[in-house]
Amino acid sequence: MSNDQAYYDAIKQKFAEQRDLRLKYRPEGTAQFTSDFAGRLSKYAVDPYGGEFEPREPINDFVEVLFIGGGFSALLTSARLRERGVQSIRIVERGADVGGTWYWNRYPGVACDVVSYDYLPLLDELDYVPKDHYAKGPEILAHCQAIAKKYDLYDLAVFQTTVTSTLWNEDEKLWHLETDRGDLMKARFVICANGTLSKPKLARIDGLESFAGHSFHTSRWDYHYTGQALENLDDKVVGIIGTGATAVQAIPGLSESSRELYVFQRTPSSIDIREDWPTDPNWARRLKPGWQAERRERALNPPSRTTPRSESREEKIRRQENANIDYMMRIHRRIEAVVKDEATAEALKPWYMFMCKRPCFHNDYLPAFNRPNVHLVDTRGKGITEITKRGPLFEGTQYELDLLIYATGFEVQKTGIYNRIVGVDGLDLSEKYDTGVRTLLGVHSVGYPNLFIMGGYQASFQFNLTYILQMQGDHIAQCIAYARAHGHETMDATPEAEEWWVQEVIANRGKTTRNEECTPGYYNFEGEHQRRQDGNYNGGVTRYLGHMHNVREQMAEHFAFS
Ligand SMILES: Cc1cc2nc3c(=O)[nH]c(=O)nc-3n(C[C@H](O)[C@H](O)[C@H](O)COP(=O)(O)OP(=O)(O)OC[C@H]3O[C@@H](n4cnc5c(N)ncnc54)[C@H](O)[C@@H]3O)c2cc1C
Repeated sequence: MSNDQAYYDAIKQKFAEQRDLRLKYRPEGTAQFTSDFAGRLSKYAVDPYGGEFEPREPINDFVEVLFIGGGFSALLTSARLRERGVQSIRIVERGADVGGTWYWNRYPGVACDVVSYDYLPLLDELDYVPKDHYAKGPEILAHCQAIAKKYDLYDLAVFQTTVTSTLWNEDEKLWHLETDRGDLMKARFVICANGTLSKPKLARIDGLESFAGHSFHTSRWDYHYTGQALENLDDKVVGIIGTGATAVQAIPGLSESSRELYVFQRTPSSIDIREDWPTDPNWARRLKPGWQAERRERALNPPSRTTPRSESREEKIRRQENANIDYMMRIHRRIEAVVKDEATAEALKPWYMFMCKRPCFHNDYLPAFNRPNVHLVDTRGKGITEITKRGPLFEGTQYELDLLIYATGFEVQKTGIYNRIVGVDGLDLSEKYDTGVRTLLGVHSVGYPNLFIMGGYQASFQFNLTYILQMQGDHIAQCIAYARAHGHETMDATPEAEEWWVQEVIANRGKTTRNEECTPGYYNFEGEHQRRQDGNYNGGVTRYLGHMHNVREQMAEHFAFS
């Protein structure tokens, strides 16, 4: 029996109430977090995996292409540049190896949430088939290392080094990069591959610094404390703040190993079934060269619907919203079926549209709440607001912990983290963006010649991020090849091209009220939905790809060359 519209309207009303409650508690939007880990917070940024810094002399040299960051963005763009004959490529990376996200995130249970045959890039090129439908973190890190080896990226790479300033030198027509190791590197082309989710953030909670037990952020997992198999936690009371994608993967392991586990929740994630299995070796053996590229092509260009519906815009929106609500109610029913305690099950139900927050897929997360040692502390949208030296304090209850884990996420899609980028006429990129992000295709920004941005705002969005990064990597490699082939020293987007793209982004972001209606989360700047041009391009991946193609077809109209 289908539900009538009143049913859907009532659920939408509840979504709105839940959103408003959260906005009331945290009206400060993204300012409720800090990623500025100075003073006593500096311990949350320390790399637990890299060991002592290798001493080395400061570097003072020139490379043709320099990547800030060594994750998938840098790796897959480097591969495309190598294919075009670029020899001089350097990766500068804060961590002690390549991998980016998969170097830093080693928490128990870490895995990709996108099918690995799609998510891991360059599978054709490396002749590699992932071991499972969803690859685990260590396998993804090993794949990153294999890419770096295949394309000789270790030769010039510099690790345990943070780029602190990237300054355009107009006389030399080169970028000058300074680092925290006293280097001065010069580069013709710079690619900001600093990551979409790479700088950890903490919620600003009163007393956070006073906690006397042990604590760390999930992207800096302290296995020395927990033990490699979490065996040291069997006599520990552990707390975890946050219930987003990372926490959902880490909690099952923690629930089995901790004496007691307290999960502090502000807003639940939506948890669907994870259809995971080991890769069938017969299937893998039958794959023909180019299989991944074909998969990607099919995913980006699905067959179009043969019978277009005749419906108004309003009808279409309502139909899509109702289908979305049906899906979320199925998620609710799954929680009821799995979680035995009724109050806990109620508290785990997400009251927002699908895709307001990053959707999660896990088979062991919900059952973890049936364990007697696992306690959900549902803050009903408020979040933890106070921590004492003994642990979090909520509504008069003191939670005494040995270990407090922050699963509080990352700065989102920021260009230039740990790093000041200063272009032509001394303009700091963050100042330029003060009144809103301004780019061409999310990749180029006027006044920053030969500088390319990956994973930043104003680019298209896909649940599988490596599709977007691959498009950007292909585009950047083609731009650099074009400049080299035509003997151009510099290329900079024209103001007209940039203005066209900013308007295109605004026009497409304004199409629906979706962002405003969503519960606060990182997809909508924690409720700061008025920041329209600062988000991703909502015109669709195919159109984004088309725009990239057109820009490259008409280089002279979109770029000034010298
Ligand atoms: C836990 C987790 C799970 C994820 N799962 C998925 C998934 O399933 N599917 C999906 O599509 N996406 C997923 N993502 C998003 C993921 O970040 C991207 O898919 C992708 O790995 C990003 O690659 P990147 O190279 O752009 O950035 P990153 O992998 O973040 O690499 C950027 C690197 O730049 C370095 N860096 C930054 N600033 C500087 C500086 N100034 N100097 C030197 N180095 C610097 C950082 O140390 C970092 O290593 C996940 C993210 C996280 C955190």
